[in-house]
Amino acid sequence: MFGATSRETSISVVIGTGNGGGIILDGSVVKGKNGFGGELGHVLIPYQSIVGTIGINPQCNCGRVGDLESLCSLTAIEKNILPYFLPKYPGHELSKVDLHTAAKLVRGMADKGDGLCKDVFRVQAHALGLFFDEMINTFDPDALIVGGGALETRKEFQSWFMAEIRKGMPKQREEQAGIPIYVMPNGDTAGARGAAIEALKVAREGGLA
Ligand SMILES: [Zn+2]
Repeated sequence: MFGATSRETSISVVIGTGNGGGIILDGSVVKGKNGFGGELGHVLIPYQSIVGTIGINPQCNCGRVGDLESLCSLTAIEKNILPYFLPKYPGHELSKVDLHTAAKLVRGMADKGDGLCKDVFRVQAHALGLFFDEMINTFDPDALIVGGGALETRKEFQSWFMAEIRKGMPKQREEQAGIPIYVMPNGDTAGARGAAIEALKVAREGGLA
């Protein structure tokens, strides 16, 4: 899988308050001219194609509408996704607390099977699927890596989330359909490039499969 030559290409996304992660291209961390290379959170995704989100208006702090971070972060849950889904679940217990508090409760409740909270993470997974599809078409990577957020749950929920990422991806070319998506251990080691480097290191040691 990952050879000793260390020339792999990987894309990693860490879901936290915002998005960490980064791009390793042929073994080198992508930094870019201005240092913003691999700032993946503000890449726009075609969120309108996510099933079950008609009329959602995902605003990011950066001013963009519909970038990865506007759907795939804790901030996104509070500002965009919960306000969208709560009215569809009248009387839901999360409507009884403020959004900031509610957002932090979503993961634990989703892990226990709550419908609204699973809807929230289904949107995140499908957003990631669309994003990874963009990365596959841009970089043809060896691996995709995701950590934080919904991945810091029990194994069963993690597996459900990973399967939903695949469901959210448009159909892939036969050659690329098998590009693996790994769960990053210790997803909270955020920091844009730190996480990417950590992920690759772990992948090299064979700890990700
Ligand atoms: Zn943004």
